[in-house]
Amino acid sequence: MRVGGSDPIREAARLLVDRRNAVALTGAGISVESGIPSFRGAQGMWGKYDPMEYATLHAFMKSPRKVWEMLSEMVSVCGGAAPNAAHKGLAALEEMGVVRAVITQNVDGLHQAAGSRRVIEYHGNMEELLCVYCWKRYTTRERWAPGAVPLCDCGEVLKPNVVLFGDPIPWLAQEQAEEEARSCGTLVVIGTSAQVSPACDIPRIAKESGAAVVEINPEETSLSRNVTDIHLQGSASEVLRLLMEELSRGG
Ligand code: NAD
Ligand code: ZN
Repeated sequence: MRVGGSDPIREAARLLVDRRNAVALTGAGISVESGIPSFRGAQGMWGKYDPMEYATLHAFMKSPRKVWEMLSEMVSVCGGAAPNAAHKGLAALEEMGVVRAVITQNVDGLHQAAGSRRVIEYHGNMEELLCVYCWKRYTTRERWAPGAVPLCDCGEVLKPNVVLFGDPIPWLAQEQAEEEARSCGTLVVIGTSAQVSPACDIPRIAKESGAAVVEINPEETSLSRNVTDIHLQGSASEVLRLLMEELSRGG
């Protein structure tokens, strides 16, 4: 169901103010304007790398050096990216007391770089590497160099601390994300196609627990028709700018 009304931005701002305790759920789309391609869509990485060959735990265990072709590209793209106006807008909304947490599927660290303080990294991050044989951990900075495959002191290829298909969700992040979803007033879903499980359950958990769901995405997604209350169709930075303007006028 969608909330009717002539101005969806105004309706969304009102929801955020009236219901309080907003939580954001972000996906690759929020970082597109920072130059990091999403996985799906026209410029998406899946056009270049088949996820079954490059993004599964099975593929990593079988041929880690091949999977590092994709991972290396992600490390250099993420390492060279800066937060955009949408990341900064969410940090400002936290500062204003409107948003209380960001649950992100992204692994790029850009919410923290923008100043968001409560960030739940549902799929891990690219800043750390770990050895799946001896469990030693390293920072990516200390072990990775362009064109080389990072190795553990034990000689095995290191894996970034990100969730590949087949990896479990870090349990603390999953617990915290579900708790935020169950107790938020509004869930603002930004830049995710909501096709990756179990992250795609978070909007449904929020909805079933009584939260309103506001979606910010230029495209329709699997959530838009059945879960979303207000779909603000546009880029994350533009829509968040309009929302902040509306909130500063008094919501
Ligand atoms: P996705 O690639 O499946 O979908 C991206 C969504 O963003 C699409 O619905 C698209 O319409 C929307 N979008 C595109 N440009 C946008 C913009 N400017 N503003 C708002 N929305 C925009 O992304 P997903 O659902 O997050 O799933 C991909 C998975 O891959 C995630 O789990 C994530 O871990 C990983 N990933 C992470 C990064 C990153 O860390 N930046 C990048 C690529 C993939
Ligand atoms: Zn090791």
